[in-house]
Amino acid sequence: MSEMQHLREQLVSISQQLCHLGLNRGTSGNVSVRVHHEADLAGFLITPSGMPANKMTPADMVWMDFLGNATGEHQPSSEWRFHLDILQQKPHINAVIHTHSLFATTLSTLRRDIPAFHYMIALAGGDSIRCAPYALFGSQQLSDYALGALQDRKACLLANHGMIAVGETLENALNITQEVETLSAQYLQALQVGQPYILTAQEMQEVQEKFKGYGAWK
Ligand code: 13P
Ligand code: ZN
Repeated sequence: MSEMQHLREQLVSISQQLCHLGLNRGTSGNVSVRVHHEADLAGFLITPSGMPANKMTPADMVWMDFLGNATGEHQPSSEWRFHLDILQQKPHINAVIHTHSLFATTLSTLRRDIPAFHYMIALAGGDSIRCAPYALFGSQQLSDYALGALQDRKACLLANHGMIAVGETLENALNITQEVETLSAQYLQALQVGQPYILTAQEMQEVQEKFKGYGAWK
């Protein structure tokens, strides 16, 4: 099977898993993956716009180049701009997941960053998960804000909208999506009782160091 066909199948599978895990529903959210090895084809595959994951087939995935030209039977996700900008500006990142998952989205309506209230915040690459300012879905402005919030990070919230998680692989991006959703739920719960203690920069630095040797799948 060609790499392109394999990635088409993976995109469908991850989109459906996001629904089964309760991280997306209906037509909310979208997923993209970089295509590496097709010599003259620099670009990525992205889910079609407005199609529920349970209706998607591999053939429905849309091919895009980095100029924003789309090839496929359907329109690309309305969020193709931030998928394109992320994949173009972060060469080590190969997969982008966007969700409207319950807790991350709830937190995004408060328009605040998630601080280092738990050490797992470090999974997203730093000592906070930023919330990008609000902009209309599908706009270049939203993409610009998202890129800013993703500086040195693998996840961000989008104000009054949802979240983005990125990874070296689709599996890695899915793992980060799940973790950000869990952290969002924990942070919201803690805020209901009081102000959680925040780990210091030194403590988070130690976590980052320890993470370098952590993970049986590496
Ligand atoms: P698409 O169906 O166009 O991917 O849009 C869903 C979405 O989440 C927009 O932000
Ligand atoms: Zn969205």
